[in-house]
Amino acid sequence: MPVHQDKKFAQEKKHKIIQNDTKASQGQWGRAWEVDWFSLASILFLLMFAPLIVYYFIMSCDQYQCSLTDPVLDLLTGKKHLSDIWNKTPMLTYRAAGIYSLWVTFQVVLYVFIPDFCHKFLPGYVGGVQEGAVTPAGVVNKYEINGLQAWIITHVLWFANASVFHFFSPTIIFDNWIPLLWCANILGYAVSTFAMIKGYFFPTNAKDCKFTGNFFYDYMMGIEFNPRIGKWFDFKLFFNGRPGIVAWTLINLSFAAKQQELYGEVTNSMILVNVLQGIYVLDFFWNEAWYLKTIDICHDHFGWYLGWGDCVWLPYLYTLQGLYLVYHPVQLCTAHALGILMLGLLGYYIFRMTNHQKDLFRRTNGNCRIWGKKPEYIECSYMSVDGTKYYSKLMTSGFWGWARHFNYTGDLMGSLAYCLACGFEHILPYFYIVYMTILLTHRCLRDEHRCWSKYGKDWKRYTAAVPYRLLPGIF
Ligand code: NDP
Repeated sequence: MPVHQDKKFAQEKKHKIIQNDTKASQGQWGRAWEVDWFSLASILFLLMFAPLIVYYFIMSCDQYQCSLTDPVLDLLTGKKHLSDIWNKTPMLTYRAAGIYSLWVTFQVVLYVFIPDFCHKFLPGYVGGVQEGAVTPAGVVNKYEINGLQAWIITHVLWFANASVFHFFSPTIIFDNWIPLLWCANILGYAVSTFAMIKGYFFPTNAKDCKFTGNFFYDYMMGIEFNPRIGKWFDFKLFFNGRPGIVAWTLINLSFAAKQQELYGEVTNSMILVNVLQGIYVLDFFWNEAWYLKTIDICHDHFGWYLGWGDCVWLPYLYTLQGLYLVYHPVQLCTAHALGILMLGLLGYYIFRMTNHQKDLFRRTNGNCRIWGKKPEYIECSYMSVDGTKYYSKLMTSGFWGWARHFNYTGDLMGSLAYCLACGFEHILPYFYIVYMTILLTHRCLRDEHRCWSKYGKDWKRYTAAVPYRLLPGIF
């Protein structure tokens, strides 16, 4: 792309250009306006069964040593009734409600009241006030990026308590795991319902709301794009990062503490799970500003999918490996452990480098070097709802030249490593890789559909240049 043409694009971007031929696609990017039967059926299925799936997994660990088949066999053979299982399930307790309320309040305080100071002394870290991507209505939101700080403060306090103050046992999360599940569900449903009502009656930005007319779809996929309370409390950023992802590493630490308490040692598999997932979580917070440019923030509206998903699905199902290892302490031989470590680190490297390449490419508008060379790309354009024409670029070199979502491939390799750390006795810890494969394949297809609506013929040129989605030569 010659330099003078680059300048021309930059100048044009400043002006509103109404083009009749692309008018039809205005505002079509973002989530769907119309609901097909398949989407509706999937949504009803998830609304009904996702909470049961979470309960089933956690209950089977609590009552059946993490066997997924034994509860079904017991029910089918009449050895047990549903009521027997339910009666053995711990109920909501005042203690759990207190712990959970304190936890969420603490995270709100860290998010809202403590401006980021990490970016002032950590070289290379991008924190403080940052801008998100342009929304379909043409709004650019500002965010206070202080997740790394919240994570550090929370973990320093956790370790200070575990080693010095002893106010509570580090096994507190494991010990209240099911009562806390009810609290997480209450918050998940409350926030999703509130977001729905807010979308109808007092949206943050009415132009960025979408109503399909289908109650279930709107509840699940959300109406508002970026719901906020006040200027800074952003629902998407808060609920996804904290309490969800800050909790992830604390939950794993609590599981490790439980292993220590029960067996007098922490197994190498538990250490591997803690370390690999810890790297993933830290990476998320180190790159929180980059996260503003990912699909969750750029395209997804805030509904039950994100609200309940962040409060319940993520902390309960992403941590299944650690939970499993409390019931089945697996000590791996050195070769097995090293193999898993290598797979996890390689997956992480691919995941991080692919994301980094796109971020660098977009930040510098293509004026950077990828693998020592100037990046190759395809010019593309799209329109926001008010008819403003914007220009963008799709990279076709580096990892982005290998496949259209090689970052997902790296993520899947890392996910497989966590599961393999649990050995081969049960399928429960393998839920994560199955789920991530479905999630990321579906996400890949969703994203491609959205990009196609957004960029039209330019997207077709891009898919012709990079024909594979996840695995070069295969898919
Ligand atoms: P991406 O970071 O891949 O972002 C996709 C967007 O990038 C597209 O919508 C498009 O946006 C832009 N884009 C696509 N192709 C190109 C290209 N060739 N050059 C430049 N820009 C391009 O997807 P996600 O936001 O889904 O994922 C971010 C990371 O988070 C991934 O690594 C994923 O693995 C991880 N993740 C993890 C999850 C978990 O639960 N553990 C869940 C979801 C994601 P635009 O409109 O700007 O052009």
